[in-house]
Amino acid sequence: MTPRYLINFDLSSLERKYSDFLVVGSGIAGLYTSLKLLDKGIVTILTKNKLKESSTEYAQGGIAVALGNEDSPRLHMEDTLKAGANFCDRQAVEVLATEGPGCVEELIELGTKFDKIEGKYKTTLEAAHQRPRILHAQGDATGAEIERALSEKVIKENKIQIKENIFVIDILTKDNFCYGVMVWDNNDQKIKAYLAKATIFASGGAGQLYSNTTNPEVATGDGIAAAFRGGAKVTDLEFIQFHPTALFYPGSPKFLISEAVRGEGAILKDIKGEPFMAFYHPDKELAPRDIVARAIFLQMKKNKTNYVYLDATQIKQKFSKRFPNIYKKCLSLGINPEKDYIPVAPASHYTMGGIKTDLWGKTNLFNLYACGECTSTGVHGANRLASNSLLEGLVFGKRIAQIIATESKLLNSIKLEDLKLSAHLSRKKDKIYNPLKLRKELQNLMWNRVGIIRQANDLKEAKNKIKEWQSVVFSAELTTPLEFELANLLGLAELVTNSALLREESRGAHYRLDFPQKDDQHWKKHIIY
Ligand SMILES: Cc1cc2nc3c(=O)[nH]c(=O)nc-3n(C[C@H](O)[C@H](O)[C@H](O)COP(=O)(O)OP(=O)(O)OC[C@H]3O[C@@H](n4cnc5c(N)ncnc54)[C@H](O)[C@@H]3O)c2cc1C
Repeated sequence: MTPRYLINFDLSSLERKYSDFLVVGSGIAGLYTSLKLLDKGIVTILTKNKLKESSTEYAQGGIAVALGNEDSPRLHMEDTLKAGANFCDRQAVEVLATEGPGCVEELIELGTKFDKIEGKYKTTLEAAHQRPRILHAQGDATGAEIERALSEKVIKENKIQIKENIFVIDILTKDNFCYGVMVWDNNDQKIKAYLAKATIFASGGAGQLYSNTTNPEVATGDGIAAAFRGGAKVTDLEFIQFHPTALFYPGSPKFLISEAVRGEGAILKDIKGEPFMAFYHPDKELAPRDIVARAIFLQMKKNKTNYVYLDATQIKQKFSKRFPNIYKKCLSLGINPEKDYIPVAPASHYTMGGIKTDLWGKTNLFNLYACGECTSTGVHGANRLASNSLLEGLVFGKRIAQIIATESKLLNSIKLEDLKLSAHLSRKKDKIYNPLKLRKELQNLMWNRVGIIRQANDLKEAKNKIKEWQSVVFSAELTTPLEFELANLLGLAELVTNSALLREESRGAHYRLDFPQKDDQHWKKHIIY
């Protein structure tokens, strides 16, 4: 059983910091929201590592947006709904597709340089998109370019304070109001309270739940876990997207081979060099992600291998020009994508579920808002359409700033100075576990039992093991970021596993071997905790 607060504290004895708005996270969602808020008050960005360290920084393929005459928000909407396996929130998708172009134009005004050809933006095709609508930067470094542009802007703004190496542990709540967060300040190794009229979580996903992941180390789902402990509703957590093609190289972290490589014509081949996607879907390599990931997984099982090949030797554009970073990475491992097949395997990639928000980024707690990958806005349904997540961070971040402007009267009436809060649970001083080792065991358990293909026995086994580990971890004091992350991962693992066990059907990224069909009659509904 997860405790309400991870640590014992008494607010009256903690150092307190005040601002108008707290933004937790410095990926696309956090940085863009901060810029949209700065004309409304002082913004403090809290981030647990360096400013740029985020999933955003590693995004490769690009950002999906309907620009130009050959495309339209309606077509983008159609594709998103279809990929989402009849499970998206239609209104949220409409907001995403129609407000997306304006946000991307603003991103460009803020200094993001997308690739151009003869003065026009270059767009590429990705799986399950009817049109080539993916804007990209420096070939395959879109996220890094967006982070560069946005972080340069926030650093220049006097009304935005950036606090690096601040680990947000829990939200501080009383009577359904969120007053801010409790943090571990890694700069001076102290617990502190950051209080604000509104708190915005933009803390990213939980790819680190799995041993094979494309996500950076920071993606431990802290914000989702903390919001849940504080009483925020979370939903759709069984829907974890596994990316079909992460570079397979033993001992090397899983490096993403962007969907855009298949968009440019690369072919998946089995270990004998035979193409196989035609056996699984008429759209072959450009079928929705969940289908391609499962096809690769099954092919690997069939051939008893840990990988398949991606053959990019025939693509129209020169690989080293179109995908310079992927090219460099492959070459560093002795693979030349212009001549060799690239060994690839699926890896966890995106958390479709998260903190439940409405169309304005509002959670069920007053003064707590959320945007980006830590949320479940309903735009991704059971399976995110490629390159929609960067866009989601922009669109819903902007909406939070808009709604906060209309709620300023209420927010200004909040008295932060008078807040009294504390937590005192009896906890042992000594720990009988190694947090790093347990994190790895948990990641392996999730990969093997709650992964791409699931079934009741495996899920029950995982559920019992997670409970056992929780009782060990939560009975002792938690004192370091590594332990806080482990606690968050264990809390989320429980929710993901329970949801996956409950959902007795297969839909989008959630595939049950014992319930292989989609069951709209019983399961066209969301699991909310
Ligand atoms: C390798 C890779 C490639 C991708 N390619 C694409 C793509 O081409 N197109 C696309 O649309 N999407 C892509 N995605 C997905 C996309 O990058 C993410 O969904 C998106 O960037 C999420 O943005 P965000 O701002 O919500 O979160 P993030 O960018 O993950 O930022 C989260 C922030 O929260 C901070 N944080 C987390 N926990 C805490 C805590 N406890 N205390 C303080 N701070 C905390 C983190 O340090 C980080 O700064 C890719 C993802 C990966 C991993």
